[in-house]
Amino acid sequence: AKEDGRNNFHFFTEEIEKEALRKRQLEQDLNRAIENQEFELYYQPIETLDAEVISAEALIRWNHPLRGLVSPIEFIPFMEETSLIAPLGEWILKQACQDAMHWDHHCSVPPKVSVNISTRQFQNQNMPALVKQILTDTGLSADRLTLEITESLMIDDEDSTIHQLNSLRLMGVALSVDDFGTGYSSLSYLKKFPVSYLKIDRSFIQGLPNCQEDSALVEAILSMAESLRLQVVAEGVETSSQANYLASLKCRYIQGYWLSKPIPQHDFCNYLNTKLNS
Ligand code: C2E
Ligand code: CA
Ligand code: CA
Ligand code: CA
Repeated sequence: AKEDGRNNFHFFTEEIEKEALRKRQLEQDLNRAIENQEFELYYQPIETLDAEVISAEALIRWNHPLRGLVSPIEFIPFMEETSLIAPLGEWILKQACQDAMHWDHHCSVPPKVSVNISTRQFQNQNMPALVKQILTDTGLSADRLTLEITESLMIDDEDSTIHQLNSLRLMGVALSVDDFGTGYSSLSYLKKFPVSYLKIDRSFIQGLPNCQEDSALVEAILSMAESLRLQVVAEGVETSSQANYLASLKCRYIQGYWLSKPIPQHDFCNYLNTKLNS
């Protein structure tokens, strides 16, 4: 038994060392990636039920020289733990605003752009100042930009958070609550914070229309949103029966593979233009 304990201990420290090594490696990799511009934005449309594209959500991809396309779930959480999220977040915001300006010149009906912002970015940076700077630099008007935030930002209820969100809203930037319903957060934040959109998390959409619990939750969210005058986007819509059901509930906006997967930036205008011709 004594032997065993020792082996376990060795096994344990080895695992911890491996994990630390993996993290050091990832940090080096990511630092290089920022310098070498290995990141790329993809866009996924958010559309009305009549297939009008109202916004495009920027989703980051990492073109790793050896590993190929790396998903954000593999590096965003790590970047949030370190301070790397600040420079990357700035790059994403600026690139997304530039891309939206590009659509203005090349697409007949240019949509808005939606950008995911980590809670960490609000804690480490003055977001209204950064956004204002980027809008000025790129020339994009504030009402073309939506920031997707999560409930975790509203949980701590800090004065500084409310202040930042109010400034952004006053500038004309819209705020959207991402993954709505998954955040263990009290709903009272909805009356304190100036949000315009709720994005119903994919996990509630998956079971539609057959799962009674999911249907009940989605209906409840839609009716609450209507009373509070919030717009609703259903995320992760994959089938026509989900879309039809959402239409029957008068959910105005949908997003998901059923409409389109995320599209590389250089193909997105094409998507917009072929849509108009079909
Ligand atoms: P999210 O913001 O909730 O984004 C939605 C995710 O669901 C995206 O995964 C998208 O590709 C995927 N998706 C969209 N439609 C469907 C569908 O119909 N079915 C299924 N199964 N999946 C669908 P992705 O691009 O891998 O991003 C994962 C998460 O990484 C995002 O979740 C977001 O939290 C984070 N993320 C992505 N890009 C950024 C970014 O630029 N900045 C920050 N801070 N986070 C980002
Ligand atoms: Ca999002
Ligand atoms: Ca989401
Ligand atoms: Ca998510």
